[in-house]
Amino acid sequence: MYNPKSNKAEEFIDNQEVLDTLEYAENNKNNIELVDKILEKAKLRKGLTHREASVLLACENKEKNEEIFALAKEIKQDYYGNRIVLFAPLYLSNYCVNGCVYCPYHAKNKHIPRKKLTQDEIKKEVIALQDMGHKRLAIETGEDPVNNPIEYVLESIKTIYSIKHKNGAIRRVNVNIAATTVENYRKLKEAGIGTYILFQETYDKERYERLHPTGPKHNYAYHTEAMDRAMEGGIDDVGLGVLYGLSTYKYEFAALLMHAEHLEAAHGVGPHTISVPRIKKADDIDPSTFENGIDDDTFAKIVACIRIAVPYTGMIISTRESKECRERVLELGISQISGGSKTSVGGYYEPMAEKEESAQFDVSDRRPLDEVMHWLIDLGYIPSFCTACYREGRTGDRFMAICKDEQIHNFCHPNALLTLKEYLEDYASPETKAAGEKLISKELELFENKKMAEDVSSKLKLIHSGKRDFRY
Ligand code: SAM
Repeated sequence: MYNPKSNKAEEFIDNQEVLDTLEYAENNKNNIELVDKILEKAKLRKGLTHREASVLLACENKEKNEEIFALAKEIKQDYYGNRIVLFAPLYLSNYCVNGCVYCPYHAKNKHIPRKKLTQDEIKKEVIALQDMGHKRLAIETGEDPVNNPIEYVLESIKTIYSIKHKNGAIRRVNVNIAATTVENYRKLKEAGIGTYILFQETYDKERYERLHPTGPKHNYAYHTEAMDRAMEGGIDDVGLGVLYGLSTYKYEFAALLMHAEHLEAAHGVGPHTISVPRIKKADDIDPSTFENGIDDDTFAKIVACIRIAVPYTGMIISTRESKECRERVLELGISQISGGSKTSVGGYYEPMAEKEESAQFDVSDRRPLDEVMHWLIDLGYIPSFCTACYREGRTGDRFMAICKDEQIHNFCHPNALLTLKEYLEDYASPETKAAGEKLISKELELFENKKMAEDVSSKLKLIHSGKRDFRY
């Protein structure tokens, strides 16, 4: 029985409710009157229910779809302006005891080199990431209680935060590790993590169990209720996502929004971010064998509909996607992207020989970070390395309250300029530096609050003279 407040996976992601939602959406996909009504509600920027958003996703009317894309762009602009936050993944270990059918780290893969970074290797990787200009990492591991116990993850986080190389610093470590206990989530919170990210992979229980035939991840309820345990452990910024291609995208979309509604109903705060990964080629994985792959147009529609349904939730796209695909969805709702990524264990410090390659999936966007920065600036975006909210305690419901009031600009915009300036001073190529300085000057002129503009200007001068880490 569907109950968004329940702490049972099968009640807050009730299969029948998802199926009824899909039927409702199918029956109403050309009901222009209803689509218009939903769009009117969406314009209030307070979000939509999973049923309403599913109707928009299913809608096939060309004109209405154009309205959907236009509204997504407007909402993106209202909540996130032209800022794009950057991060990099850091793979610590690919040891894994699970049998995930889509992932090359599955335990039966005997020819992929298994690797776990030592603390010394982590230091080298982090220095290489700092030297690129990164300030925010997402750490990733396979699930293996012997090789990657929580103690290893905690020690690695401590190492990462402790490294201060030249002007570099990692100021926020997000964590993407397997579902764990409340006690372990509490330890991660105490270690100072930013967001806890866990992809659901698929919300369809029957399919989930088939795709995770062995290992602890087989347990659907334990995986699906992970965010509840994370919140119980004190982590109030959690990141959701499904791996598109595993099940039908309409099912995943409705269930993902039901998960967001559940977090809000049960904990008073929705997800901090939603990621939109699509299944990619990898060592012994061929994406074409998964029957539910989605094309770029459908992918763009999903991004737009998520943006409209949960305006205050950040949206992340990784280098799984190509430059062209990323460019298209940036304006539709994406607020965070990775750049200059390596998806193998090690490889930032020293590029790997092919036979040592342990990449989790093929990266489509292989451009170095500086090229990504220049590209964003040329597109009119402000690349941001801001980590201020979480360091100022603006997390969970505090962050959401500021976000829902559309006040987040007052912090994010100046912080984006300040962190961009740090990048330009410390790491940019001459071309990126020139383009970035021009962008900062232009942005300063656009400030409505002239006092704030003066304050930001004086901080920019201090950064130029060597000071670092200002934030609002
Ligand atoms: N091992 C952790 C867990 O069990 O949740 C998460 C870390 S894993 C390194 C990060 C994510 O990569 C997975 O949750 C999955 O969605 C994604 N992934 C796995 N195989 C992939 C593939 N072939 N293509 C694209 N993404 C993939």
